[in-house]
Amino acid sequence: RVIGSGDKIHLNRVNAETATPEEVEACLERPIQKSADIMSLVTPIVENVKQNGDKALLELTAKFDKVQLESPVLKAPFSEDMMQISDKVKKAIDISFENIRIFHEAQNQKDILTVETSPGVYCSRFARPIEKVGCYIPGGTAVLPSTSLMLSVPALVAGCKEIIFASPPGKDGKLTPEVVYVAHKVGAKCIVVAGGAQAVAAMAYGTETIPKCDKIMGPGNQFVTAAKMLVANDSNALCAIDMPAGPSEVLVIADKFADPDFVASDLLSQAEHGIDSQVILLAVDMTDKEVDLIDEAVNRQALALPRVDIVRQCISHSTTIQIKTMEEAFEMSNRYAPEHLILQIEDAESWVPKVDNAGSVFVGALSPESCGDYSSGTNHTLPTYGYARMYSGVNTATFQKFITSQVVTKQGLSEIGCAVMDLAEVEGLDGHRNAVRVRMEKLGLLPEGY
Ligand code: NAD
Repeated sequence: RVIGSGDKIHLNRVNAETATPEEVEACLERPIQKSADIMSLVTPIVENVKQNGDKALLELTAKFDKVQLESPVLKAPFSEDMMQISDKVKKAIDISFENIRIFHEAQNQKDILTVETSPGVYCSRFARPIEKVGCYIPGGTAVLPSTSLMLSVPALVAGCKEIIFASPPGKDGKLTPEVVYVAHKVGAKCIVVAGGAQAVAAMAYGTETIPKCDKIMGPGNQFVTAAKMLVANDSNALCAIDMPAGPSEVLVIADKFADPDFVASDLLSQAEHGIDSQVILLAVDMTDKEVDLIDEAVNRQALALPRVDIVRQCISHSTTIQIKTMEEAFEMSNRYAPEHLILQIEDAESWVPKVDNAGSVFVGALSPESCGDYSSGTNHTLPTYGYARMYSGVNTATFQKFITSQVVTKQGLSEIGCAVMDLAEVEGLDGHRNAVRVRMEKLGLLPEGY
């Protein structure tokens, strides 16, 4: 029932109709994260930066990134020679920037929301930007200027006063010029030239040269994720984070109308992220022969990719699950809660209401994940590891907090005053009860018995 990967690059295959429920569930399991081990590595790094600031940051960059820097921070304005990029790439960044800006601007809740809950009782809610935000842009194994856009453009839209970037230096000690160009475009205050846990600690606690941030966003490797969780749990840091994140993942639902080349390309664009990426294909009501066509396309396209070695390892632990009905496929997908969900099925849009848990959905044959990763306008910083069940991806509200307010008039006090006093009495909080009582008494609103 399970076909191994052998020499050819193709996914394992399980038929949900003949396999046991346990075998099917095993295909949907994520690799266990060794969080305790990582924490014991990351805690001394974070503590070192907290105690020794810039000095520790420079030492840790020398140790882990093999670069001896003179300063751990690059302050704005950034010099032209640090953002030398081709016109073609500049145009691509500008197009993506604009689409991300438009979509996140549409999410920006600028208007005050006011509701009269009882006659004379007015409740409001309004958004305010988080003042200082830290954007972590991974840079260990690949340069990711797209992540700098996904984090800083919503921060700009939300109106954050200080945008701080952090990204590890390359082997030459320099930052990726595309990242510096984005930092310049969004008006970032500075770029922390460091990566890993030490960069997160620098933004959470601040150093002599780096401002302390109120919230840190962005994906990263296990050291980055562990450090984010550590500082978020330290009340002395007073620093929030966007969400826990793990290795990237995709679940594709395809039917016999899907183009095998398109399906294969989506599976592979995820597989090239890293050997720990997860790739799952739900093949709905497809024969073995039809699934074979996808396998052949996977093998053919994979061999042409420069990152074929990463792809080979990732695909070897990825699975195609043959499943009978579309309803079962969506039920399985909702249980898995993928970071990326791709629908290569007939009349794909009509199935979107069935999606309950997913980070972002790619609807129809012409909507590959790559478009959302870079340029369509949606955010690519998304919850992984099943956290899509309860977390949203990065969005404009990630960079805001919502303040509520209320106005209670004389009429309002007469409407809700007794309820407040009665509940305060139940809780034994006489001071609370009295705050209403004195007002109602002076206004002549106090009923007998209060
Ligand atoms: P990274 O920037 O996250 O980490 C690099 C840093 O890790 C280095 O600067 C170094 O300081 C530190 N480090 C390396 N080895 C260490 C060690 N042994 N001990 C302590 N610190 C060490 O870059 P990366 O490693 O390439 O990881 C990027 C991750 O981000 C990938 O897993 C990728 O899938 C993920 N990612 C996710 C999304 C998303 O939206 N979910 C988007 C982009 C990238």
